[in-house]
Amino acid sequence: MIEFADVKKVYPDGTKALEDFSLKINEGEFVTLIGPSGCGKTTTMKMVNRLIEPTSGTIYINDTDINTYNIHELRWNIGYVLQQIALFPHMTIEENIAVVPEMKKWKRKQIQDRSKELLEMVGLDPSVYMHRRPDELSGGEQQRVGVIRALAANPNIILMDEPFSALDPISREQLQHDIRELQQKIRKTIVFVTHDIDEALALGDKVCLMREGRIIQVDTPQQLVLNP
Ligand code: ADP
Ligand code: ADP
Repeated sequence: MIEFADVKKVYPDGTKALEDFSLKINEGEFVTLIGPSGCGKTTTMKMVNRLIEPTSGTIYINDTDINTYNIHELRWNIGYVLQQIALFPHMTIEENIAVVPEMKKWKRKQIQDRSKELLEMVGLDPSVYMHRRPDELSGGEQQRVGVIRALAANPNIILMDEPFSALDPISREQLQHDIRELQQKIRKTIVFVTHDIDEALALGDKVCLMREGRIIQVDTPQQLVLNP
């Protein structure tokens, strides 16, 4: 479970990015953060794995202040998927998926099995894709690998920051469908940032509407549609 307790962020130049930000995300829940550009979505995400420090307030994971965790263990337990597909270009897909499991000293066979399982989960034939390099994949395929790479070492939390926004509408719709199916299988805590309301409503168990650094409304998609 992730909890933001009265979090505030003011950047050194005086920009107020977040204020009065309190939010509880339950274990296994898929929460979408939606709001216009600049409303503080990315700042919120980066605070969870301590890329950004709040000015005040506390963030808890499983009721423990995130500052008390070892930072490496904290980050290993959080998968992060970004808009810019950040696959390592000189590595094969298998090697890309293996990065975090290797840091965690998984055995080679275990990593191989995990890579196969993950590729199959998103409809990419492992015998074909394991040995390819990122530039031999389409944009949608690279983004799928970006998603499964974040899952590789079984993190409990997955943060996704507009992961599909660079894709064409068809790949995007396919990936939205895939990610819903994936979530049925893995049941992880997912925080998904988007500025597309349809995407937020389609994916989230819970949708968190933000504006100018504040939460306007948190509700199920059904409730949001009924009470806009
Ligand atoms: P979003 O992800 O919703 O587009 P961000 O969290 O990136 O919003 O940004 C929130 C606000 O903080 C914006 O006004 C943005 O310009 C500002 N901001 C983000 N990063 C920095 C920074 N490093 N220094 C100063 N201001 C920043
Ligand atoms: P898109 O329509 O998304 O732009 P591409 O034209 O990049 O897709 O790729 C179409 C298909 O060809 C994809 O399945 C991709 O895996 C495959 N492909 C692309 N480049 C290569 C390559 N250099 N070697 C082998 N297969 C490739």
